[in-house]
Amino acid sequence: MESTKLAVVIPCYNEQEVLPYTLDTLEQVILRLIAEKKISEESYLFFVDDGSRDNSWEIITTASQIRKINIKGVKFTTNYGNQSAILAGLNEVRKRGADAVLTIDADLQQDVNKIEEFVKYYEEGCDIVAGVRNDRKTDGFIKKIFSSFFYTFINWLGVRIKPNHSEYRLISKKTLGIIGYYTERNIFLRGLFHELGLKTKYVNFDVKPREHGQSKFSFMSLFALAMSGIVAFSTYPLRLVFFIGISISMISFIVAALIFFEQILKVNLIFDITFFKIWITFISGLQILCIGIIGEYIGQILTEVKGRPQYIIAEEL
Ligand code: UDP
Ligand code: MG
Repeated sequence: MESTKLAVVIPCYNEQEVLPYTLDTLEQVILRLIAEKKISEESYLFFVDDGSRDNSWEIITTASQIRKINIKGVKFTTNYGNQSAILAGLNEVRKRGADAVLTIDADLQQDVNKIEEFVKYYEEGCDIVAGVRNDRKTDGFIKKIFSSFFYTFINWLGVRIKPNHSEYRLISKKTLGIIGYYTERNIFLRGLFHELGLKTKYVNFDVKPREHGQSKFSFMSLFALAMSGIVAFSTYPLRLVFFIGISISMISFIVAALIFFEQILKVNLIFDITFFKIWITFISGLQILCIGIIGEYIGQILTEVKGRPQYIIAEEL
């Protein structure tokens, strides 16, 4: 049997500090796997420069000329975000050819020694081999709380995404072909791969602290990713708005009936002015929240309807 032609997709956004380390490490791992005939010598690294404003693209271009492994890549005109960068990598690899594609972060926080195991499971017939973090020790307090809340909430909504699963994943050529049919703009890859129902294997790995540079995700970009994940995979929040409406209408009906009896019996129970101040403030907040939930869906519809390109490529290798 021919050994697997592996493409490694690496999204990068302002990663000049970490890229030399990333190239050294991946070169070593890939050359070893080629020498041991675990992957084909046509295997390659595919960098997607997500509109970096530093020297990332120059480092990648130079590496493609001097390194012992095949290096290809594209550079976006501007920053489109990590999901678009990964997607572009997958689209480009589909054109250029590979038996299997691995995605990994440019900072190599994920354990590169697991690549061999990923390839082994692929050769045993898995279409998706997804990395799951053993813990979140390297994340800050807020990120830890936020991601645990996100995974609990999205699972509660009926979207069965494996908690702590990351963008460290190997997919087969077949999976890559199927992903090509998904043309949505607001892409949430974690949910998408899960939905395909293909033979999947989860591999646990340890997350290391970042060697160089800083995290490129702000709280707002993580929040946007989480929202687009929820909106892309579940309409339950819309139904929730409906049930909130019904519940409040019922409570209002009971309150109205109680006030009516208060008037008849000429007693004053709980419905004084303070009650109404609290009630009105609470309901106003809830109304704006519900409009916000509906707004998220409308925003996504607008983005999808406009159908703008997901990214624009400025240069390629
Ligand atoms: N990234 C990207 N575009 C962005 C933000 C991040 O391509 O707008 C890349 C980044 O260069 C890295 C990966 O996505 O390769 C994960 O980012 P990071 O390591 O900063 O995230 P964290 O590990 O802190 O969650
Ligand atoms: Mg990282």
